[in-house]
Amino acid sequence: MTVRVRIAPSPTGNLHIGTARTAVFNWLFAHHHGGKFILRIEDTDLERSRSEYTDNILAGLRWLGLNWDEGPFFQSQRLDLYKTAVQKLLAQGLAYRCYTTSEELEALREAQKARGEAPRYDNRHRHLTPEQEAAFKAEGRNFVIRFKIDDDREIVWNDLVRDKMVWRGSDLGGDMVIARASEDGIGQPLYNFVVVVDDIDMQITHIIRGEDHIANTAKQILLYEALGAEMPEFAHAPLILNMDGRKLSKRDGVTSISDFQKMGFTAEALVNYMTLLGWSPPDATKEIFTLEAAAKEFSFERVNKAGAKFDWAKLDWLNSQYIHNMPVDKLTDLLIPYWQEAGYQVDGRRERPWLEQLVALIGPSMTRLVDAVEMSKMFFSETVEFSDEGSKQLQQEGSSAVLSGVIAALENQPQLSETAAQDMIKQVVKEQNVKKGLVMRSLRAALTGDVHGPDLIQSWLLLNHLGLDKPRLNQAINS
Ligand code: GLU
Repeated sequence: MTVRVRIAPSPTGNLHIGTARTAVFNWLFAHHHGGKFILRIEDTDLERSRSEYTDNILAGLRWLGLNWDEGPFFQSQRLDLYKTAVQKLLAQGLAYRCYTTSEELEALREAQKARGEAPRYDNRHRHLTPEQEAAFKAEGRNFVIRFKIDDDREIVWNDLVRDKMVWRGSDLGGDMVIARASEDGIGQPLYNFVVVVDDIDMQITHIIRGEDHIANTAKQILLYEALGAEMPEFAHAPLILNMDGRKLSKRDGVTSISDFQKMGFTAEALVNYMTLLGWSPPDATKEIFTLEAAAKEFSFERVNKAGAKFDWAKLDWLNSQYIHNMPVDKLTDLLIPYWQEAGYQVDGRRERPWLEQLVALIGPSMTRLVDAVEMSKMFFSETVEFSDEGSKQLQQEGSSAVLSGVIAALENQPQLSETAAQDMIKQVVKEQNVKKGLVMRSLRAALTGDVHGPDLIQSWLLLNHLGLDKPRLNQAINS
C-alpha cells in the first residue's frame, strides 16, 4: 500500500499555526513511508473563502518547505463529483430530502433546551410519503439532503494517536445535512460529506488532522460505509494550547504563519518547533533537526494525546540556534528585506561585503531576524542617538581628550584596519597615560551612542568604511 495523506485547509483565513502543524505531521508521515502528500483547498464555503487566503496558504506551506506531491485541488471545481455521490445515497435510500423549515428547527431546539436536552434533529422527515413531499413542495418549502444516522449505531475506530475511540450514533445530533437545495435540485454539499467524497476519490489512506475533528470522524466513518469505500486510518493530533492551557487563539496575538515570518522567525526554526508540538524525537536531547531528519524517525507512537503548549521561549531559543549557525551570506539575504522594510538603505556605500561584515558582527547576538533592525540602526543612520549612559560616559574626565587623540591618530589612517585600530588605541593610552578602559568606553559612546553593544573594533571598521567615524568623534567632543 502506498501511503497517501493530505492537508485540506479552508481558505477562510491565513495559514494558521494549527493547520501548518497538521501539515507538518502529514508531510513527515508521508516522507517516512515514501508516500504522497496531497494539498486540497476546501473552498466550498463561497461566502467566507477568499483567493488571497489561498495565496497566503500556498506561500506559507512553500516557505516552510512543506512541498506537496499532488494538487492543489479545489473543491469548488469538483461539485459534480459530490452531486453524483449525493444522488447515489438518495437512490440507495441512505439519504433523503428534509423539508423542515428554519422556524420549525428553531422551535425544536427551544423545546429541547427547555427539557434540558442537547439540541438534535428529530429525523421527522425520514419517512415522508411522495404525497407529503409534493405538499411541502407546493407550499414552496426548500429542502436539504440528510444522511440517516441510526441512534443505536456504535462507531469504533482505532485511532493512531488516541487508541480505541467509541462513539454512539445518538451522539451525532440526528440525521446529518450533507447538501443544501438549489434551483435545479442538489445544491451546495457540506463539509463532512465533501471531505469523505474527496478522500475516497484521492485514495487517502491516513487521515491526519487536529483533535477538534474527532466528532467529524465519527460521522465520516458512517459516510465511508454508505459510499462502500475502504476505511482509512485516522490519527488525531493534540491541540496547540497557550501557556495557560487554553486552545491557542486569535487572542494570543500571532496565529498565522505569515505573522511568525514577519516577526523574524526562520522557516527552519518554525517548522522544527512545530514538529515538537505534540511529537518527541526518540532521542529527546536532539531537538534541532531538519524535516527530512525528523521524517526518518516520525511515528504516531511518539505523538502525545495531551495538548501541546506553545512555548515562545523555546521557539526563540530554536530560532537563535538557526540564526547563529547560518552562513553569513544566507543570513544577509534574509535580513535585507527586514532592513528595507525599516527604510534602511542597503545599497550605495553599504555594498554586499560591508553588509556581510555587519551580519557577521550582529548575527551571534540575534534571536529573531527582526532584531537586526534595532541592532544595526546606528550603522544605517548618519548621526547617532545617545543613551543616558552614553552621554554620561562622554562627560567623564579625560573622555574628550582621549577622543581628540583618536581623531589626530586617524589623520594618518585613510583606510582603517583592525590592527591599525588596535595600535591607535594603544598609542592614545600611552600618550595620555590613561586606562585602556577609558579609551574603549569613550570610543564606543562616541561611535555608537551607547556603552554596550557589539565588538567595538568591528563596529568602528564598519563606520569607518562609511566615513561616519570622524564626524561622530567630532560630534561627541563638541556635545
Ligand atoms: N478543511 C478543514 C479545516 O481546515 C480540514 C478538514 C480535514 O482535515 O478533514 O479545518
